[in-house]
Amino acid sequence: MNNKLYGNLIFELSQPGRKGYSLPKNRFGNYAVPQELRRKEEAALPECDEMTVVRHYTNLSANNFGVDNGFYPLGSCTMKYNPKINEEVAALPQFQNLHPLQPADTTKGAEAVCTLLCHALCELTGLHAFTLKPFAGAHGELTGLMVIRNYHESRGDHQRRLVIVPDSAHGTNPASAAVCGLDIVEVKSLADGTVDVDALRQLCSENGDSIAAMMMTNPNTLGLFERQIPEIEKIVHHCGALMYYDGANLNPMLGAARPGDMGFDVMHINLHKTFSTPHGGGGPGAGPVGVRKGLEPFFPTVSPYHGNFAVAMRAYAYILTLGRTYIKEVGPLATLNANYIKQQLKDVYELPIDTLCKHEFVFDGLKDKSTGVTTMDVAKRLLDYGYHAPTIYFPLLFHESLMIEPTENESKDTIDGFIAVMRRIAQEAANEPDTVKSAPHNTPIGRVDDVLAAKHPIVTWRQLQRD
Ligand SMILES: *Cc1c(COP(=O)(O)O)cnc(C)c1O
Repeated sequence: MNNKLYGNLIFELSQPGRKGYSLPKNRFGNYAVPQELRRKEEAALPECDEMTVVRHYTNLSANNFGVDNGFYPLGSCTMKYNPKINEEVAALPQFQNLHPLQPADTTKGAEAVCTLLCHALCELTGLHAFTLKPFAGAHGELTGLMVIRNYHESRGDHQRRLVIVPDSAHGTNPASAAVCGLDIVEVKSLADGTVDVDALRQLCSENGDSIAAMMMTNPNTLGLFERQIPEIEKIVHHCGALMYYDGANLNPMLGAARPGDMGFDVMHINLHKTFSTPHGGGGPGAGPVGVRKGLEPFFPTVSPYHGNFAVAMRAYAYILTLGRTYIKEVGPLATLNANYIKQQLKDVYELPIDTLCKHEFVFDGLKDKSTGVTTMDVAKRLLDYGYHAPTIYFPLLFHESLMIEPTENESKDTIDGFIAVMRRIAQEAANEPDTVKSAPHNTPIGRVDDVLAAKHPIVTWRQLQRD
């Protein structure tokens, strides 16, 4: 690709007087724009011919890395399986052109989709009722915590303001509790990565009357099944609090176990992670919330209408495609793929918690720390080989976290290819560390200053010129 011609900002390709459009003749007459609404000076629009515009944007789009370009082993928030047929189903004009305010007797089909999806989610989770309204996982957490707060308040338990969150939790858990006006208390993990039950017991015996809920992610953010859930559930319920299940990544549980059966009262599911819907760039999503029988009167109104209906549509199509039989293979296959990669790489990457994992696991950087090659370097070098980087420096429990989730839908060939490249990078780190430390070499942009980009984002051309 010729970066000079097509990789610059469209403004930099501008030449006075060029244009790539021709407008049709004005058929409507001239209407004067009031003086006070007019621009003081000409809009600084780029002036380019059509081919320059088309090539510029086409080449820019090809610089993007997505799940359709290559393997995407991003732990925790990964792009899981997004079958193309679901896009077709969600785009059917009969659904896509619906208006939320059109007469109810013309929207029976869409309502049926919502009802049937809720039934399926109840079946899959062992809970009693679902709402499809929340627009994301974090929104689901807030909704679920509002259910819990409403429940306690209905019983006059206004002092229950504490939410217990394990130190391995996704950052949205404490954030949602704070947005809900609740206070957060952290419970530590043991060396094996699971919740410290003794610490929890003490916490509950000291603060019993003030605790509103415990939020748990299972498998947790290290990809580990929390084996002590029966004990944890007993302790938390004993002090009158409710159990919240973060089911953002429910794929490893499908066909294996159900939160409702484990004693959880409220949960959310990220449809956009577990049940398809491409969600790069921050959306769209859906975080339906499910509750145990008796809690459904406490659902708050968190959005109008039925949430992100097209996301629900894809989820329902996905569930029907797999059906009762094959949906039970999702969990075991996600688990098998993750364990296979872990076993194949643990002699060269540091595996701090060496047990059977579920859908994902965490390395603590390269095993050989003497090379000075960091997790960041490994992640950047992966880009050179055409792989998306895993999640890095999260969870915060280790210094060099490298969190890998292959998902259930990848073939053994793809996974073997990734393993080979990860081993090759480990070898490069030993033999030619500078190659890894200066990666990426094959991408249009090398390393950016993340901190500067976050603190001083330059998002307009004008500002760029001024600077
Ligand atoms: C992704 C994720 C969330 C948040 O979901 P959003 O849709 O991004 O708001 C919460 N918890 C866990 C464990 C997640 O992986």
